[in-house]
Amino acid sequence: MKLKSLEIKGFKSFADKTHIILDNPITGIVGPNGCGKSNIVDAIRWVIGEHKIKALRSDNLEDLIFNGSRTRTASGMAEVSLTFENTRNLLPTEFTTVTITRKFYKNGESEYRLNDVSCRLKDIHNLFLDTGVSNDSYAIIELGMVDDIIKDKEGSRRRMLEQAAGISIYKTRKKEAKQK
Ligand code: ATP
Repeated sequence: MKLKSLEIKGFKSFADKTHIILDNPITGIVGPNGCGKSNIVDAIRWVIGEHKIKALRSDNLEDLIFNGSRTRTASGMAEVSLTFENTRNLLPTEFTTVTITRKFYKNGESEYRLNDVSCRLKDIHNLFLDTGVSNDSYAIIELGMVDDIIKDKEGSRRRMLEQAAGISIYKTRKKEAKQK
């Protein structure tokens, strides 16, 4: 499974629609301090279902929307779309190209789309369970996480191994069944 592209609009410092092609085996994002490199990672985290606002380096959901500059008015909505190639069917869907979209409006409304069809956040979580891509997986490793994994903070090493072994989906289903 490969990332194909990322589209960001109105998210953090990205006022204009920005389309990033990720077709090469390795993509490096470079630029001066504060130009928005980490905001790109935040956008990826957010669209794959991150709900912990601190993990997105923000204090509240509204901070995710472009809040204006000297020359630009603030946006009313943040929108991020991430497209995957799914030719090996690692994502449990028949589509060979999968695009997930997440929108958040200033009035507090949220919207999720899977290949342009409205869906729930749960559908996005389920799509990525045990694929190594979900918001709490090892797909995105930040500096602090390396420390957590080495120290096994709050069982983080076990969680990572469970994701890699493909068993966290069963743990999630068991938890859901117990709640019913
Ligand atoms: P560094 O190299 O120092 O780590 P970076 O390139 O990773 O920097 P980011 O942390 O991605 O930079 O971006 C920081 C910038 O994003 C800041 O200039 C901040 O003002 C801007 N920013 C964050 N949230 C918003 C928002 N809601 N609206 C507009 N700009 C924002």
